[in-house]
Amino acid sequence: MTYDKNNIFAKIIRGEVPSSKVYEDDKVLAFHDISKAAPTHVLVVPKGEYKNFTDFVTNASPEESTYFFKKVAAIAKDLKALDSGFRLITNSGSDADQTVEHFHIHILAGKKMGKLLPKN
Ligand code: AMP
Repeated sequence: MTYDKNNIFAKIIRGEVPSSKVYEDDKVLAFHDISKAAPTHVLVVPKGEYKNFTDFVTNASPEESTYFFKKVAAIAKDLKALDSGFRLITNSGSDADQTVEHFHIHILAGKKMGKLLPKN
């Protein structure tokens, strides 16, 4: 499936939809999730057109990939998430309930998050 240029994060990157920005440069954008799952819940996206984690890791250049993941770490530090800890999540595909098909990392922090997944 091809990348949909009209997904909501593509529109946010283009400035067509507003977002509560935490960080932006020419390659990366970070903004608060509209539906917080933790006191701190920030989404970090590369500005390139990648649908999910595998697409990004497979098709981004090593420089782009390294830059992105280092920026995620720097943003987590700026959010003061380092001292008490934080969780990174990236959902990929339907079993993970990925709802926006533009690769993104969730940074979650600010509370005890408990086990990775509820048991059921
Ligand atoms: P995922 O389910 O991993 O694809 O995550 C998509 C995330 O995007 C969800 O946590 C949504 O709450 C969030 N989201 C959707 N639309 C917006 C928006 N306009 N601004 C900020 N976050 C959004």
